[in-house]
Amino acid sequence: MRNGGFKAAKEPVTGTFAAHRSAATKGAKRCGIMEQRMLHPPQHAARLEALLDLGLEDPVLEGIAQKVLDGTRIDDAEAMHLFQKADLGLLGAMANHIRERRHGDTTFFNRNFHVEPTNLCVFACTFCSYSRKIKQRDEGWVMDKEQIWDIVRRYEGQPVTEVHVVGGVLPQMNLQWFGEVLEGIKRIRPELHIKGFTAVELEYMIRKAKVSFEEGLRYLQKMGLDSLPGGGAEIFDERVRAEICPDKCDSPTWLEIHQTAHRLGMKSNATMLYGHIEGFAERVDHMRRLRELQDTTGGFNTFIPLMFRNGDNEMSHVPETSLQDTLRTYAVARIYLDNFPHLKAYWPMLGRETAQLTQAFGVNDLDGTIDDSTKIYSMAGAEEQTPQLSTQELCALIEAVGRKPVERDTLYGVLQDYTDYDWDTASGETGTAEKGYRPLPVVQSPPSAN
Ligand code: SF4
Repeated sequence: MRNGGFKAAKEPVTGTFAAHRSAATKGAKRCGIMEQRMLHPPQHAARLEALLDLGLEDPVLEGIAQKVLDGTRIDDAEAMHLFQKADLGLLGAMANHIRERRHGDTTFFNRNFHVEPTNLCVFACTFCSYSRKIKQRDEGWVMDKEQIWDIVRRYEGQPVTEVHVVGGVLPQMNLQWFGEVLEGIKRIRPELHIKGFTAVELEYMIRKAKVSFEEGLRYLQKMGLDSLPGGGAEIFDERVRAEICPDKCDSPTWLEIHQTAHRLGMKSNATMLYGHIEGFAERVDHMRRLRELQDTTGGFNTFIPLMFRNGDNEMSHVPETSLQDTLRTYAVARIYLDNFPHLKAYWPMLGRETAQLTQAFGVNDLDGTIDDSTKIYSMAGAEEQTPQLSTQELCALIEAVGRKPVERDTLYGVLQDYTDYDWDTASGETGTAEKGYRPLPVVQSPPSAN
């Protein structure tokens, strides 16, 4: 028997990983035809209690499983043990137990679009497929303020709730310039939540403005910034960071900027780039630093593991990691980060089917409709070359694996429960259409080089 296997199971445990995957795959294939219905009742993974009743061969895993049942925090050594020894089925059962205790069957999504003002960048991250150096400006794009505001104007009357502003780092896009961008967005659409700027972008623009992080963030907040995304964290371990992103914002600074934002009342997210040259120890170290900060501030909403993609970058020789490693990473994150409310699978990076599967491994959020407004992962070779889902398609993805699709705002306020939603009525010419329940059309063109 393998480590982490179960002792003498006489009866098959219901809801195995294989069965779940099969349902998810079937569901994904049907997503385009708008006929999604729940394929099975919400029995998503082997129940943790049932597995413990059977007994686990490995006493460490048994202890961890008991902690999960009790709601007790696991330590770093236990997280390493999960990465190295636990069966995927057991990991899924543990992560799912936590997910259902926190969120039941709900999987959140939002209706959002991205604005990426530029892909030119002064930094040289070796994993980055998206950026171009300033001397390669012919291959990139640089938007002016009017172009950014025009994108926001194109969503007039559309039921989006969030704009996500991130991009490369350029000297001319400085603190004041971005302040004016934010102010203009709020002038056009005051209620739109602006989630903007990785800590890397913030560190650069605030340092160049020669003010403190607190002063810089206060200024941006006053101009309209509502919250921070989680990008730029990559892997905090200094040895790995020196190889994959040697010249940008270091790990303590990334954490300090988020800590400052939390102090100012802004929520933020946190990412982790996994599946390249880091090992399990660096993943645990990364999550430990986040967990410690979250213990202090409580300001993080969501943890988002981001899988390294090797298309067209300086790390193309590094193979991409496997599906099982992805599911393992999400599950361990859900178990270890007990103080993070949400775990998100970013479907444009993972692909739709994998994003469906992660919902059995702790994930309770699939991000948003996106509307083909980001190039970051499509340029890195992701399957989703034009990432966009209508509200109906996104709900179908979620329902296909037996979860309940619930639209949220950026801060996880519930906007609409789409369980058993009557799309036929909603997509008609009258009735609820004006409430914004119609599928969101794509209105943003990909940025053109200039
Ligand atoms: S990851 Fe971000 S900071 Fe690094 S090169 Fe790409 S755009 Fe620039």
